[in-house]
Amino acid sequence: MDRRKFLVGAGMSMLAAAAPVDLLAATKRGGMRSARRVHKTGKLKLSFFPYELKLRHAFNLARYSRTTTPDIQVQLEYDGVVGYGEASMPPYLGESVESVTKFLNSLDLGQFNDPFRIEDILSYVDGVAPCNRAAKASVDIALHDLLGKIMGQPWYKIWGLDPAKAPVTSFTIGIDTEEVVRQKVREASPYKLIKVKMGLDKDQETIDIIKQMMPDVPLCVDCNQGWKDKEHALEMCHWLKERGCVFVEQPFDKEWIDETAWLRERSPLPIIADEAFQRLPDIVRFKGVYDGINIKLMKSTGLHEAYKMITVARALDMKVMIGCMTETSCAVTAAANLSPLVDFADLDGNLLIANDRFKGMTVENGKITLHDIPGIGVELLK
Ligand code: MG
Repeated sequence: MDRRKFLVGAGMSMLAAAAPVDLLAATKRGGMRSARRVHKTGKLKLSFFPYELKLRHAFNLARYSRTTTPDIQVQLEYDGVVGYGEASMPPYLGESVESVTKFLNSLDLGQFNDPFRIEDILSYVDGVAPCNRAAKASVDIALHDLLGKIMGQPWYKIWGLDPAKAPVTSFTIGIDTEEVVRQKVREASPYKLIKVKMGLDKDQETIDIIKQMMPDVPLCVDCNQGWKDKEHALEMCHWLKERGCVFVEQPFDKEWIDETAWLRERSPLPIIADEAFQRLPDIVRFKGVYDGINIKLMKSTGLHEAYKMITVARALDMKVMIGCMTETSCAVTAAANLSPLVDFADLDGNLLIANDRFKGMTVENGKITLHDIPGIGVELLK
């Protein structure tokens, strides 16, 4: 479809011209550099277009396989400053190009005269319609990018985080033939943590191949709800522990609360919630069922709620992982700003696609490396 057709003004009409917003406070405080002067007559404008992500390899999980991911790229502009956002819609999450387009077209952000009122703006966006988590995340990410650029600082600095504390990120190896697994393991050589997709009868065979090729690199395992028997799952947890596995993600169907709590009580490895976990209120009911949560911006509705999730999970003494969908470097880099706060990171979604539009965070020697770029920290590729 013609990209121009999708450059839709989403009703994010003019900010009130009379609204005096002093966006230079950061500069005046002295420590911040190169904050952008934003005129009081600025207007906020949302535009977006669909952008199908092409996967480098077919993505095989316990429940399905695919070679593309639907995605919508978002731009939020205020007085010449452009913030980038993104909604990635893996089919199992229930959103689509149509649903995200409809949601973004329904927004009326013209009622807000101060783009720094993040809490009010995002509460409004969340209340426009239920669900639509990826659509909401696209606005949240673009708003953060815009505000960080206006302040002239990357978000990890605005949050006061030390980029040196960013963790290693895992590299994902899907369920596949032995030949493809071997190829993926060769690609994984710079990484310090390998994430293995499980849930079919080849689980042990796949782990054996990886351990043979990379004996010293720790593993983590993602079952994507694929294990069907709790006794087998417990045996696998012990077997995996002996092979250097550090956690197991979403072993059972997301509705299997009792079975998951049973496994968690006995497992030598932490059990992390992914598909079962979406929004902030889920954390409290998962205390005692899972040891930790996998936060993804496309589930959390973006950075604002993700930061709150980390705070609540820490208060409940739960582990925190930050993950992603297949996404461009836009959403992946946005999430990476939070990574100094988490135990585990799985931010390789941008590496799984062949048509990234951005450059952003990099992985150096297996570790997430945040750069000093204002906003969420991305630049459009030429
Ligand atoms: Mg997962």
